[in-house]
Amino acid sequence: MRTILSAPAWPYANGPRHIGHVSGFALPCDMFSRYQRMAGNRVLMVSGTDEHGTPIQVQADAEGVSARELADRYNRVIVNDLTSLGMTYDLFTRTTTLNHYAVTQEIFVRLLENGYIFSKTTLGAISPSTGRTLPDRYIEGTCPICGYPSARGDQCDNCGNQLDPADLINPRSKINGETPVFRETEHYFLDLPAFAEVLGSWLQAKAGQGPGLGRAGAARRLAGPAGQTHLRVVRRGHRVPVGLDRVGPALRRPRRLAGLVAVARGRVLLLHGQGQHRLPRRDLAGDVARL
Ligand SMILES: [Zn+2]
Repeated sequence: MRTILSAPAWPYANGPRHIGHVSGFALPCDMFSRYQRMAGNRVLMVSGTDEHGTPIQVQADAEGVSARELADRYNRVIVNDLTSLGMTYDLFTRTTTLNHYAVTQEIFVRLLENGYIFSKTTLGAISPSTGRTLPDRYIEGTCPICGYPSARGDQCDNCGNQLDPADLINPRSKINGETPVFRETEHYFLDLPAFAEVLGSWLQAKAGQGPGLGRAGAARRLAGPAGQTHLRVVRRGHRVPVGLDRVGPALRRPRRLAGLVAVARGRVLLLHGQGQHRLPRRDLAGDVARL
């Protein structure tokens, strides 16, 4: 008997998911898990709703509710839909549980301690009316290469070139049409190219075991500069593990990283010490639905 972790993608809780989404994120894994159970293997199929990031905040602002209220509502909608469709998750949780924060923090802190996270100042787009950062895909403008008027901040769909939002001609926010302000802001980056060799050989070793594994492009991508720009771990707060946010902004400055690690470690240990079964009921009520 084999022990198998089946890990479907986490649906985003900024709205109901339609049947096309479900056929993409849940159905293939559900079929795989059912087969493995029938074959006598021990399967753990785990997923949940992704409840962080700009799309949640944008939708919450549009509906005049808090991000938490919005995520609570769509978590329930998605759980009900997946249950009604008969998906066989062993655990369906959320990214807003204390356990999720603790694990995320631990990964962040370990990477930081081992030198795989570095900070860099780049030009970031800010919404002048809200003061919030605008992710690249929320900016639209004219492509500086081909002149296509609806190029996205990260890529032009007409000529296919990757873009930097600061290079767009007449950039505008897709949320409210205003012109973003570009300011130098500090971000944390994951040094993915540092893992290129080890991940590259792992991918090579898995070649032929399934689609998507062992593709030469994946290893090449890891080694290139795209590895750094595409895997930005932290962007102005909401990507920082929540516990680190609560530590306070001063501690997030690079010269005080040592302090951040010390404090964050204390917090991680504390959270781990609680154990999920001992979390306050209000944190678990509705968070974890066994489908
Ligand atoms: Zn273009």
